[in-house]
Amino acid sequence: MVNPIRPRRGFKLSSIISFVVILSVLITIFISTIIGYNTERKSLFNNTIEMNGIAALNLSKTTESLVISMQKSLKVTADYFSDIELSDKNVLSQLDFFMGTSPYFNSLTIVNSDGVIVSTSPNNLNLIGSTPTSEATLESLRLKKPYISKPFHAITNRLIVMVSSPIFDRNGNYKGFVGGSIYLQQANIFRDILGVQSSTTSGSYFYVVDSSGNLIYHPDKYRISDNMSDNPVVQKLLQGSSGSQRVINSEGQNFLAGFAPVPAAGWGIVSQTPQEHITDISANVIQEMTKFSAPFVLLLVILSFWLSRKLAHPLNRLATYASRLSSGDDSLKPMTSDASWNYEANQLVDTVALAFNKLREQKEVLHAEANTDALTGLTNRRTMGAITTLWKQQGTPFSVILMDLDHFKSVNDRYGHHMGDEVLKFVAGVMVSEKRPDDYCCRFGGEEFTMLLPHSSEEEAVLVSERIRLRIEQSVTPIGESVTMSLGVASFPDVSDEVFELFKYADQALYQAKRDGRNRTVAFSSLQSMARI
Ligand code: GH3
Ligand code: MG
Ligand code: MG
Repeated sequence: MVNPIRPRRGFKLSSIISFVVILSVLITIFISTIIGYNTERKSLFNNTIEMNGIAALNLSKTTESLVISMQKSLKVTADYFSDIELSDKNVLSQLDFFMGTSPYFNSLTIVNSDGVIVSTSPNNLNLIGSTPTSEATLESLRLKKPYISKPFHAITNRLIVMVSSPIFDRNGNYKGFVGGSIYLQQANIFRDILGVQSSTTSGSYFYVVDSSGNLIYHPDKYRISDNMSDNPVVQKLLQGSSGSQRVINSEGQNFLAGFAPVPAAGWGIVSQTPQEHITDISANVIQEMTKFSAPFVLLLVILSFWLSRKLAHPLNRLATYASRLSSGDDSLKPMTSDASWNYEANQLVDTVALAFNKLREQKEVLHAEANTDALTGLTNRRTMGAITTLWKQQGTPFSVILMDLDHFKSVNDRYGHHMGDEVLKFVAGVMVSEKRPDDYCCRFGGEEFTMLLPHSSEEEAVLVSERIRLRIEQSVTPIGESVTMSLGVASFPDVSDEVFELFKYADQALYQAKRDGRNRTVAFSSLQSMARI
């Protein structure tokens, strides 16, 4: 038996194909996801910058109109009081009327030319008669012109911006001013108008700075009055320019900002979106993409597994067959070629199947040749030894018949060696025709033959011997005449339980047959009884 080929280390073809297919699928998905993410992010980035630029411009126009309306409204109020004595007790209720009809301010104040507060609306401020010293009041008094203050802390300690309009009498004498206050950290007109513009879904919001870069509106009211003049966008605003850009604030946060000035007030509007919001949206898009593609990827993976196994199947079969062949598996049937999808696999399997089957046939021929006699086709002496050894091991009783042709030398001499061979073949044919299915006919060597008869007694073997001998004697052989043979019979384990002894005794019986005049059968047991006599 040939030693089986030691299995080599390595990966199965189906695993390699699956691995390559799945890897390519995953790499493709990974690359397309990265490209999708970057494209999505870039377009969101550009859109957001652009949208913030437009939003800042629109809002600057709105705020500009708002400031102009505020100033006009204050001028109407100031003009109303030009003919009225400011110390008149009706001023309070008249101011309340203006306060009630104007949506712009949290409070209205009239300050006379001496800098004394003469009226406030609402009048719960208890300020009448006091003299405010804020820069806003002093500037309004000094300028005697419409004025918009910076954010400042009023007497009430509120953070406010004051818009003022001077009051002149009919003769053009300065009487004081009407100031409209916007409470920056409370509900106010900015919050009403700008607050609703901020979008929580897009993450965008607005803030407003004054001409010094102070925040006068911010969604986070605690930041109001903070100075933003170190912010690059605010710096551009203070120079009066508009546009949009990416900006990093003092805390290192990235924003996509649009900005536009409000010339009427010297203010600036900034609309901005935190960049991380864009990243979040892009990440969400990728998450959605991944969720959407997951079932398809799974399907693809299963499909590639199935496909690779299908493709590798014929080669797997070949490998298994080759391995069984090399391990000398006798139950191996000839290889058949299954049709596969793969042309090369089909070619390979067909070719290898052909080669394997040829190899099998050759193996069988060699096996037969090693076990049979070339001239007669009978079992040879080597196989005969193997059979008797096996029967001995199994304890199978059997008889052996040894045969030798009589005066065969003279057949050769008279008819030639070739004709002698023909006679040997003829004798073999007679033996085979007389044997039972389990019997073995062997050529022992030269013109000597043997028959092995399992489960046969000496008497039965003598009967078979006589039948063969008579048929040979009565046949016309290829030389045109009959020949004769002498036979010796011995039985296992009756005469001996050693195979070599059994053949020795059969040979002695055959020798006796020759001595007794040839053309006869002698059983070894009869020699023993003769010896006893
Ligand atoms: P005996 O009756 O004593 O057996 O006489 P014999 O002539 O047969 O003597 P023996 O058995 O000793 O001689 C065997 C002869 O058989 C010798 C040889 O010429 C012949 N012989 C042996 N093998 C072959 C063979 O393969 N072919 C042919 N044609 N003749 C063979
Ligand atoms: Mg002989
Ligand atoms: Mg002979």
